[in-house]
Amino acid sequence: MTLELPPLRDRLIRWANQNSGSDNLPGLAAMLDLLEADFAALPGVTVARMPCANTPAQALRVRFQPDAPRQVLLSGHYDTVYGANNPFQRCELVDERTLRGPGVTDMKGGLVVMLAALQSYLASNPSPALGFEVLLTPDEETGSFGSAPLFAEAAPRHQLGLVFEPGRMTGNLVQSRKGTGNFAATCHGRAGHAGKSPSNARNAIAALAEFLVTAHRIPAELPGVLLNIGRIHGGGDATNVVPDYAQALLDIRITRVADRPAVLARLAELAAPINAREGLHLEITGSFNRPPKECVPAEETAFALYQQCGAELGLPPFTWVHAGGGSDGNLLSAAGLPNLDGLGVIGDQLHSDREYCVLPSLVERANLCALFLRRIAEGKVRL
Ligand SMILES: [Zn+2]
Repeated sequence: MTLELPPLRDRLIRWANQNSGSDNLPGLAAMLDLLEADFAALPGVTVARMPCANTPAQALRVRFQPDAPRQVLLSGHYDTVYGANNPFQRCELVDERTLRGPGVTDMKGGLVVMLAALQSYLASNPSPALGFEVLLTPDEETGSFGSAPLFAEAAPRHQLGLVFEPGRMTGNLVQSRKGTGNFAATCHGRAGHAGKSPSNARNAIAALAEFLVTAHRIPAELPGVLLNIGRIHGGGDATNVVPDYAQALLDIRITRVADRPAVLARLAELAAPINAREGLHLEITGSFNRPPKECVPAEETAFALYQQCGAELGLPPFTWVHAGGGSDGNLLSAAGLPNLDGLGVIGDQLHSDREYCVLPSLVERANLCALFLRRIAEGKVRL
């Protein structure tokens, strides 16, 4: 089956013009309707809506030949970072090759690639040896807290995951990803009058600031770890009060599973001298919601086949790279499912009102994935 760009482009415009910000429940429901209608049109599939853990938004599950010996899981999220009130709501065709719009790359373009690849694959006499499952989820941009159990449940049924997050501008895929965590550093002191000296008040803001200055140096001490102080608040309206409370929110990213105990130990070490002082208490809370995605040998094998398929189609050579952002590929890795990530559309400026995608890559990437599925079905690599 020869894929043509215009219908893929038009589908992407239709999908991207439907707002589905992670917190826009009616928008997510409308988006799910669009996806269900289009994915249900694939020949021979069954489609089901799946409840998520802590949100009324649902996931979509599409299955084909669930009893086949080889099983591949294709995943993508249909939420975006653009809420219902964001001014960036509509697509604009910048030129023949470029579409700017909310989520065109991250990752409704990826969903278009996935669907087109499956259409193409299913149109060419699909092998009884290969089954697949599609999992489309509504909360990736807010940490996949509600859909994480669905990934954990699906992973053991499959031998390989395919994640349709954006490819790099060079066409490169994603080899590994940082793990991401959200933490809070909360400091309690003792309130008092700003004019009393000496004073038994303890300034929570000052103590927290001391801690943050040292915590901010952690990335220099522990290679592979990133720490961003993203938000801080404390004190009240009156500046003549010594504040008894301050809190900072931290985004912490790690490259290896082994970085986790190291960074947590370092944070505790830095909090200790503040906790040793009378009247002050500094507590670190939070967790890593996505463990790091570290490359495993099965992924090397699958990636080599992906590269080979690209060469066979005459696509420019590509490699794979490390990414600082997490994805649901991290969750699949954590559940023990080797996966290729970054298989979606090529584009840039994600999470901004300049987000755009390179339209011809919709067709190229779909053809690439379809050929890969054919090779997997033929048993070209042992999964
Ligand atoms: Zn994404």
